[in-house]
Amino acid sequence: MKNRVPLIAGNWKMFKTISEAADTAKQLANLVSDVEDIDIMIAPPFTALAAVSEIIRDTRIDLGAQNLFWEKEGAFTGEISAPMLIAAGCQYVIIGHSERRQYFGETDETVNQRIKTASTAGLIPILCVGETETQRDDQKTFSVLDKQVTKGLESLILDEHHSLVIAYEPVWAIGTGKTASPDQVQEVHAFLRDLLEKQFGNMHANATRILYGGSVKPDNASELMALPDIDGALVGGASLKPDSFARIIHF
Ligand code: PEP
Repeated sequence: MKNRVPLIAGNWKMFKTISEAADTAKQLANLVSDVEDIDIMIAPPFTALAAVSEIIRDTRIDLGAQNLFWEKEGAFTGEISAPMLIAAGCQYVIIGHSERRQYFGETDETVNQRIKTASTAGLIPILCVGETETQRDDQKTFSVLDKQVTKGLESLILDEHHSLVIAYEPVWAIGTGKTASPDQVQEVHAFLRDLLEKQFGNMHANATRILYGGSVKPDNASELMALPDIDGALVGGASLKPDSFARIIHF
């Protein structure tokens, strides 16, 4: 029996200008105004955070960012800090997305610094982990995930004020239309929960939401969400259109 409130999170990546993001947020807010028992988060690009924050202020949609840097301020051209995200209205921040690892040189060490910074600042970090197709074919899925979680969360402190979300996103399923099978997803999520238990103890392992991400669509959301260790979804492509994202939220 799951006692965790599901979280459906939308990662808008590098899509939408300020006005497009505001428009999408407005439409989404109308479409999900009846939702009660599910947490909802959208992560627009940095430029649209403040505008979207205003629009979702009195709704049950929360705001997330797609990354942060670990220093508070300074000569770090192009970076964004935790206090800046909080001032823009964010409650969550996505960290270690596979696109950041693949194209922007993120490592488990830099992911760990970002995670700890986010958590200390009062943001809820969403740690993204996942294996590539080659790693899965080479039977390395579990060792890859073990390293990403153990190093990514090293010396993180969880307590009643500091929680965490994990998103399992097999790289081969992101934006490809290929979804991991329910058996594959449940097997990995149970493994991740065991890792959390080893690192943080039973209470935090049970309280931590583990999302699945990778080509989640309105027509596969309910099957995935019914699995015992799946507590929601991190949605890329299908979160860009209010209608399809709302259908996923109504799984
Ligand atoms: C993502 O980028 O986090 C993601 C899951 O993308 P998509 O839903 O498009 O596969």
